[in-house]
Amino acid sequence: MLELRPNCECCDKDLPPEAMDALICTFECTFCADCVANVLAGACPNCGGNFSMRPIRPAAMLMKYPASTKRVFKAEGCGPARDAA
Ligand SMILES: [Zn+2]
Ligand SMILES: [Zn+2]
Repeated sequence: MLELRPNCECCDKDLPPEAMDALICTFECTFCADCVANVLAGACPNCGGNFSMRPIRPAAMLMKYPASTKRVFKAEGCGPARDAA
C-alpha cells in the first residue's frame, strides 16, 4: 500500500492525499510537479527512475487507511540524478 507521504522531498511543499500535483517514483519517493519538471528533469534523484502521478485514495479508504504523516525531506537539497562517479 502506498504511504501517501505528506510533502515534497525536494521543496517540502505540502502534498496532502488529495493533491493533484504529487508525483511518485517506483520507491514512492514523493515530489511536487514543479520540482519534477523544473529541478529534477523528470528523473528521481534517489533512484534514477521515472515518476507517475500519485493516485488519489478515495475519502472512505483514507479513513480506514490513513496517509503517512512522516515527512521526508532532503535538507541538503536535491537536484537532477547524478552519476555516482
Ligand atoms: Zn517540490
Ligand atoms: Zn526514487
